[in-house]
Amino acid sequence: MSRPNQVEISASALAHNLAVARQAAPKARVMGAIKANAYGHGAPLVATTLAAAGIDAFAVASVEEAEELRGLQLEPRYTALAGPFSAAEIPLAAAHGHRLVLQNFAQLQWLQKSHWQETLEVFVKFDSGMHRLGFAHNELAQVFSQLRSKLGGPLRVLGLLSHLARADTPEDPYNAEQIDAFQKACGTFGIHTAGEHSLPNSAAILALPQAVTPWIRPGLLLYGLAPLQGRSAAELDLQSVLRWRTEIVAIRTLRAGDWLGYGASWQSDRDCRVGVIACGYGDGLDRRLGLQQAPVLVRGQPSHLLGRVSMDLAFVALDGISAEPGDPVQILGGPELPLEDCAQRLDTIAYEIGTRIAQRVPRIRVP
Ligand SMILES: *Cc1c(COP(=O)(O)O)cnc(C)c1O
Repeated sequence: MSRPNQVEISASALAHNLAVARQAAPKARVMGAIKANAYGHGAPLVATTLAAAGIDAFAVASVEEAEELRGLQLEPRYTALAGPFSAAEIPLAAAHGHRLVLQNFAQLQWLQKSHWQETLEVFVKFDSGMHRLGFAHNELAQVFSQLRSKLGGPLRVLGLLSHLARADTPEDPYNAEQIDAFQKACGTFGIHTAGEHSLPNSAAILALPQAVTPWIRPGLLLYGLAPLQGRSAAELDLQSVLRWRTEIVAIRTLRAGDWLGYGASWQSDRDCRVGVIACGYGDGLDRRLGLQQAPVLVRGQPSHLLGRVSMDLAFVALDGISAEPGDPVQILGGPELPLEDCAQRLDTIAYEIGTRIAQRVPRIRVP
């Protein structure tokens, strides 16, 4: 028996959320963002499931992440969102069919001095106002002139690609400015590409139809997480994909005045029973959640964490719950324990909650 601590990934919820994206942009092709281990959900499992559900392509952070998934031999291809980090990644990407986003002039120089055989497909990153990666409008003429000059192998420019900075607040006029800048750039420079441009992320797919392009790039919504401020996942018909489960491994009986765990963080004011669970900060369970007494489900019944979270273990309250070692405890996920609520408690965003779940926690597929 292995340690009872795992993340369940719902295949039907992933497929449902993909259908929601398709419904919002029926003519677009979907490039699902599965970077950072699929936002912590487990990239191999998520990629396999979304490929079976008919997704068109995947977006990852790097050629390295694409390479890690290549052994799965899935049909959809990977796009490395920040492009190559060295000249050596160009022939590697070409040989294995990975697409690259070109976002700086050093990468264009690498294209001139590398050598490759198969047609390399690329997007050109346009900085429409996020000011993170990409070329400015007045640099694009030079970019396309360099891409038409002598390169080390065959190249196909699919289209321009850009990213919105404030799509989670769709009514913000900055979105219209960025969309306008993107459309102008596509109008002027689109002739140098195959016209397969790509702009919207999850929030824009659901709330900014004017941002839809031939390729859409949902991430968050595929995981059933709400991308728009002030609108819940349920409201947007999204289904939570992840449930993080562990078990009670020991039960302690405390007397009034007994201290619990590390430090002097919790003292019982009465006789009570406390469960010890097989999950700790070494699994990505934030230490602050113990002191905050964050909600959990013990045998499906509402309870909460207690005291200090340790590296491999934590405590749950058992007031009014009859539990034994081996009983299931749900820590996070599903509509019962939304990642969005946990994010709010920790003053962060749902993206970070998923990506914090440690590598050592196995991700398993459930229907
Ligand atoms: C992560 C990412 C996405 C997906 O964004 P979501 O908000 O999760 O839908 C799209 N485009 C780029 C460039 C990204 O880095």
